[in-house]
Amino acid sequence: MLQQVNGHSSGSDAQGRESLREDLQEFLGGEVPLHQLDDLTKVNPVTLETVLRCLQARYTADTFYTNAGCTLVALNPFKPVPQLYSPELMREYHAAPQPQKLKPHIFTVGEQTYRNVRSLIEPVNQSIVVSGESGAGKTWTSRCLMKFYAVVAASPTSWESHKIAERIEQRILNSNPVMEAFGNACTLRNNNSSRFGKFIQLQLNSLLVPRDHQMTGAAIQTYLLEKTRVACQDSTERNFHIFYQICKGASADERLQWHLPEGAAFSWLPNPERTLEEDCFEVTREAMLHLGIDAPTQNNIFQALAGLLHLGNIRFADSGDEAQPCRPMDDGAVRTSALLLRLPEDPLLETLRIRTIRAGRQQQVFRKPCSQAECDTRRDCLAKLVYARLFDWLVSVINSSVCADPASWTTFIGLLDVYGFESFPHNSLEQLCINYANEKLQQHFVAHYLRAQQEEYAVEGLEWSFVNYQDNQTCLDLIEGSPISICSLINEECRLNRPSSAAQLQTRIESALAGSPCLGHNKLSPEPSFVVLHYAGSVRYHTVGLVEKNKDPIPPELTRLLQQSQDTLLKVLFPADPEEKSQEEPSGQSRAPVLTVVSKFKASLEQLLQVLQATTPHYIRCIKPNSQGRAQALHREEVLNQLEACGLVETIHISAAGFPIRVSHRTFVERYASLRRLHPRAPPDPHSPSPDEGHSGSPHAEQATLRALLQDILHTLPALEAATPAAP
Ligand code: ATP
Ligand code: MG
Repeated sequence: MLQQVNGHSSGSDAQGRESLREDLQEFLGGEVPLHQLDDLTKVNPVTLETVLRCLQARYTADTFYTNAGCTLVALNPFKPVPQLYSPELMREYHAAPQPQKLKPHIFTVGEQTYRNVRSLIEPVNQSIVVSGESGAGKTWTSRCLMKFYAVVAASPTSWESHKIAERIEQRILNSNPVMEAFGNACTLRNNNSSRFGKFIQLQLNSLLVPRDHQMTGAAIQTYLLEKTRVACQDSTERNFHIFYQICKGASADERLQWHLPEGAAFSWLPNPERTLEEDCFEVTREAMLHLGIDAPTQNNIFQALAGLLHLGNIRFADSGDEAQPCRPMDDGAVRTSALLLRLPEDPLLETLRIRTIRAGRQQQVFRKPCSQAECDTRRDCLAKLVYARLFDWLVSVINSSVCADPASWTTFIGLLDVYGFESFPHNSLEQLCINYANEKLQQHFVAHYLRAQQEEYAVEGLEWSFVNYQDNQTCLDLIEGSPISICSLINEECRLNRPSSAAQLQTRIESALAGSPCLGHNKLSPEPSFVVLHYAGSVRYHTVGLVEKNKDPIPPELTRLLQQSQDTLLKVLFPADPEEKSQEEPSGQSRAPVLTVVSKFKASLEQLLQVLQATTPHYIRCIKPNSQGRAQALHREEVLNQLEACGLVETIHISAAGFPIRVSHRTFVERYASLRRLHPRAPPDPHSPSPDEGHSGSPHAEQATLRALLQDILHTLPALEAATPAAP
């Protein structure tokens, strides 16, 4: 029959048939070998097992990116694949008429977002949410995307015409090594683990040359820096990279100046013998210079960091008498840290050893010697305070160096490099915040995606209902809802400032929130804890230390001490209070309302979601094939856990539940019009406009053309199927 048809066919008929055959094969899927399946919505049936098998086959074939409907899955190659990130390939995706027809890649996402912000009809701000567990490749992916935009959206400013003003995209790229030196550390899971969350807004300008957007600036927002790492590291991990960089990379003169003799031992510098790629001091310095942080300021920063290392060497011994303060075991450490931080030595020692409290009706001031453990806590707190302020200050300096004038940009692409869902044997406030953020992002993802699909179907006049859609609002109500939730109960404990045990907090949470279906049963744990049933799995949170962590108390004497520093940098980080407020730590109930870690995190999360909600989001889920960081090894169990944790199968179901192929009317007409002659068309509906009016541009006419074409094509299908060779 097809031969018969062929007999009458022209070249364009053959083309039309070939297009249809290709599309049908792609659509029906069956014969495509697993490793060539570019989209996980096409595995059949969609289960964790089949998805895993497909990813495994692709990984073995060195194919690291796979679409999963509206999400891109990125497997970490754990080996250099330079050809996959070359500027040539970036340009290829940028120049492609339909980048989504090329192999799945982060550049497809990059290019799509770039085209969307350039749309002349309706430019919409874009965001890319990169998620995944530690070591999965989020930061790598974000960095590559930034490089992609630096290539495709490069500003025309040439080095010649602006000798001093460096290209802005280069400056934005320079923010990476600096942020990573100060915010990343070697952990058990990743040698270069980001210990903070980051949202970078790449600002684009369309004012002068509408068809050619350029990057004109960027703004960086960070979340939840793990500041405890400055003073407390697991013996198998490391402190932030910058400390190792200064110890390894300082010149002889700097070593003298910063009191860092070769081979000096610092208790806050575990595993100094381990050399990492990330230890390159020169790269950080160079990048800082490009961001406008000049050599004297850098010197100032590194000297203060050396001061912190010496502070960490201060040890206290109990005096044996409660009325007497503890003794420092090494006067040298106190002296050197005071010298480097330019603090008066005696007040430093006194602040670390003696607590001042106001109490009684007269608010009398009492001085109470601290126990050895309290001295250690105050020393650690001092270091955390300095480091966290320094980090925030650096971010603000970077921002002022890369941020564009509001009048010079019109749209933005946001990149979110955020910690993935976490579930460890021991989970505390950090995991609660991280998983809370992930619940919020998941809700945003599902809501956005479903809404977008539903709106699209409504416009097309298609009936559709997403019956299996599960919202995670119940879990969010449990965590952040009002009036009572886990967050509100933990905050209340902080506000009341009463001594309460971890067991009491567990009981309060479990009794006040007993009605929530997302609060898990908690029968087996010997330790005080509660269980939350997250969309990505259940997590047990231990309540020991939770309230204290949430308070994150900073004794006012510490801030006051730092305000006395003669150091230029510390003076900026700790400006003197305009009016000297309370001099001592007030006791008991008179305490001012505390802004807790959870409250601050919740506020910044809400802000982030507001920004995301005003954008078209895109999702990249990074997967770590094995925990050893080995190339060519995919550990099934570990990958399964990650697929489960990111709700990938659910995502695929949502994507596959919709119509898997979307073709615009115009493309459809262009692609298949030639097939119309293959079968006589049914007599036209007298009430419909003529199909040929489709080309006149009216939507009704176009739809009528489409309907007529569809009828024609449906008639040709049996012939085509009969002629399609059977699968081998
Ligand atoms: P964390 O949450 O701990 O910050 P992460 O998801 O940001 O982890 P990355 O630091 O991006 O993880 O990646 C971990 C390591 O994996 C990188 O240092 C790099 O060695 C390797 N890696 C990641 N992605 C790629 C890639 N596409 N090609 C080659 N190597 C990669
Ligand atoms: Mg990272």
